[in-house]
Amino acid sequence: MLSSLSRLGFTFKRLLSLLSTPPKMAYNTEVLRCDPASISFDSASRPVISSQETSAALLRAAKLLNGKETVAFPTETVYGLGADALDAIASSKIYAAKGRPPDNPLIAHVSSHEMLQRLLPHSYAIPPVYEILMRHFWPGPLTLLFPTNHEVVPPLITANQPTVAIRMPSHPVARALIALADTAVAAPSANSSGRPSPTRAEHVLKDMNGKIALILDGGPCDVGLESTVVDGLHEDGNLRILRPGGITVEGIENALRAEMGDGETVPKVLVHRRDFRDEAMEQAPTTPGMKYRHYSPTVPVVLLRITAPPSSVQPQSVQAFVESIVSKRPHGKQMRIGLMVPSDSPLRARMTAFGGVEWVPYLLGRRSEPEVSAQRLFDGLLTLDNMGVDLIVVEAIKEEKEGLAFMNRVSKAAGETIWIDSSEV
Ligand code: AMP
Ligand code: MG
Repeated sequence: MLSSLSRLGFTFKRLLSLLSTPPKMAYNTEVLRCDPASISFDSASRPVISSQETSAALLRAAKLLNGKETVAFPTETVYGLGADALDAIASSKIYAAKGRPPDNPLIAHVSSHEMLQRLLPHSYAIPPVYEILMRHFWPGPLTLLFPTNHEVVPPLITANQPTVAIRMPSHPVARALIALADTAVAAPSANSSGRPSPTRAEHVLKDMNGKIALILDGGPCDVGLESTVVDGLHEDGNLRILRPGGITVEGIENALRAEMGDGETVPKVLVHRRDFRDEAMEQAPTTPGMKYRHYSPTVPVVLLRITAPPSSVQPQSVQAFVESIVSKRPHGKQMRIGLMVPSDSPLRARMTAFGGVEWVPYLLGRRSEPEVSAQRLFDGLLTLDNMGVDLIVVEAIKEEKEGLAFMNRVSKAAGETIWIDSSEV
């Protein structure tokens, strides 16, 4: 046991040194179209593809993955940058292309339950609560932590931890690609580390052009932000949400209540930082965005909250806020400010009434549609950034359903939070 651990430790260090070497070759990045509607799956989870163009693109991508190269592809959450998760050299190219810190582990994506089993220790019995979650939410934006099979999963993927994060994506292009490559695919978001995650192929191309071999363009992503990461391996039987995401806490609680029999204890669903803290985990960093800056466009982001501020904070009037921004503009230059607000927010009319600023609104759906806000968040940050605005102002939404994940991402993207006097809006 000890000797095998030290062997793994050695391999891990060697791989870390590999990562610090910049990639020698610049790629001539190809973009190939895939039509998700042309892909279905048979009862053995094998893809059946009716479009020639899509089939050819997927086969080309699978061949690249099997040749240890990286490929960006759409998932239902965001575009992923994929490489063979069971090959350390291949996966090291993800870290190199993204500039990702080597202690940030990757999620392994599978296309079938049989592929899941290949990543787990041979004698491991999947806990009943995971069976429930997989039945309800797989394929889909839910990532589960499992004990890793050290003989199969390179320590690079898990950042040398005893667990491996696994999910089965529902996007037909993602699932078909993984099935055709016939290997688990590590696939973090296909962006430079620290930037907002891409939700369209154009976002990936702008950021990753020349750094990766191929981008599969399957249109915009439905969910728009990353998977929910769940750790259900604690002895108390409770589920810990390490990262809120596409599957809501409410959805998980409902599934558990619906499936657990009378007399069975329904596990609690604990959200990191809301219901529990874990300093060691934050240093690991097994909770994204804790140790490193995340989701930030190149221009500053300000988060506007209209709820009651903490006692130490004085809320501002809309006028004072706008004046404070305008006073910082370079002499003689009109400021362009991106304004990401729900379409039924009174804040939009209040803000845009002020002159001296060119306002560029980007609407987030109605206040009652947090799933639309979530789907549009990264697209809004990237679109406004590409339009060359000087600043992006985002209105906070309720931390319920998909709003929890929205606020998790935007809080990390924002350099500053301002509380607006609620009596004004
Ligand atoms: P992403 O950057 O979307 O690929 O998500 C990767 C994130 O999943 C990491 O930053 C971790 O927060 C989480 N994760 C991956 N593997 C593990 C693991 N073994 N233990 C805990 N969290 C993990
Ligand atoms: Mg990411």
